[in-house]
Amino acid sequence: MSELVDTFGRAHDSLRVSVTDRCNLRCSYCMPEEGVEFEPRDHVLSFEDLSWTVDIATDLGIDAVRVTGGEPLLRANLPTFVEMLDQRHALDDIALTTNGLLLERHADALAEAGLDRVNVSIDSMDTERFAEITRIGGLESVVRGTVAAARAGLEPLKINTLIVDGFNTDELDRWVEITREFEVTVRFMEVMPIGEAARGGHVGDFVDLTDVRERLADRHDLEPADTSVGNGPARYWKAPDAAGTLGFITPMSHPYCDTCSRLRLTSTGDIRPCLADDAQVDIASAIQRRDTEAVETGFQFAVERKVAGHEWRDGATTETGMSTLGG
Ligand code: SAM
Ligand code: SF4
Repeated sequence: MSELVDTFGRAHDSLRVSVTDRCNLRCSYCMPEEGVEFEPRDHVLSFEDLSWTVDIATDLGIDAVRVTGGEPLLRANLPTFVEMLDQRHALDDIALTTNGLLLERHADALAEAGLDRVNVSIDSMDTERFAEITRIGGLESVVRGTVAAARAGLEPLKINTLIVDGFNTDELDRWVEITREFEVTVRFMEVMPIGEAARGGHVGDFVDLTDVRERLADRHDLEPADTSVGNGPARYWKAPDAAGTLGFITPMSHPYCDTCSRLRLTSTGDIRPCLADDAQVDIASAIQRRDTEAVETGFQFAVERKVAGHEWRDGATTETGMSTLGG
C-alpha cells in the first residue's frame, strides 16, 4: 500500500519520470516554432540520480514508472536507464511515451532492457498534416518505429492522438478502422491549457471527446472494453470483433482528478504533484547528496500539498510546458 496519500485520500503508485526537456519535434500546441529555452545540460540529472530517486519512490509505494520527456529517446543510451529501472526496482510496469521518430532504432534494445510497453504519439496519419502539426514531420519513421515496437513485444501498444478542432477530427473514423484490423489501443486526447497550448491560443482547439465518443459509439456500435494494463484515466471501448481498442482521455470534458494516482519527476529534479498546478518541490540537491530522508520528505511534502483538481474549465492555465512536465 502506498505511503503517498494526499489530503483527499488519493494514494499514489505511479511516477512519470522525464529524462529530458529537449525534443526533435515542435508540435504547435506544445512548443513554439523556435523551441523553448532548454535546461542547461548540467542541471539535468544523470540516470544514476534518477534511478536512485525511483528507488526511494518505490519504497514509498510507487510501483509503475513511465519514462517521458521532451523526447526521451533523444537521451543517449536510454535502454541503460530502463535496465536500471528493471533490475534495481520492484516495478510492476515500466512504460515509455515517445514521439516514435527514433523508436525503430531502439525498440529491440528497450525491450531487452526490460521495457514493458510503449505509447507513441501520432496526431495525424496524413504525412502532410503530420508535418504541419509537428512543424518537422517524419510520419514514415514514426510508423516504422511503431511497427518495430510491436515486433519487439512492447505491448499493449498504445497510440496517443491529440484531437484538435478543425485539424484532425475527420480522422476519427479512420482510427476506429485501424483498431478493427490491428491489435493496438488508439487513445483520443483532449487539448489541455498547458504551456504553449495556453500561450499560443490553442485553448479553442479543444474538442469535447465525451460527445465524440457518444457519436462514434452510435456510428460504429462501440462497446465498453476491459483493460488490464496501465490504470490510467482513459475509458476503453471496442468496435465489434475489433483486434484493438479505443481510449478516450477527457481531462476537460470529464475530469478524473478524484482518482489521480500520479506524481511527476522532471529531468532537473522537481516533483510535480499535479499536472495543472505550477507548484513543485525541488529535490535536486537532496538527490545529488544522496540524502534519503530529504528525498522522502520531498515526496511526502509534495503529496500533502497536492491540489484537489484543475480549474482549467474556469479559465485557469498552467505555465510550465508539457515538454518539461512529460505529459
Ligand atoms: N515527446 C513525447 C511524445 O510526444 O509522446 C513525450 C512527451 S509529450 C509532452 C507527451 C504527450 O503530451 C504527447 O502525447 C502530447 O501529444 C501530449 N501533449 C502535449 N501538449 C499537450 C496539451 N497541451 N494538451 C494535451 N496533451 C498534450
Ligand atoms: Fe516534442 Fe512530444 Fe512536445 Fe511534440 S508533444 S513537441 S513530440 S515533447
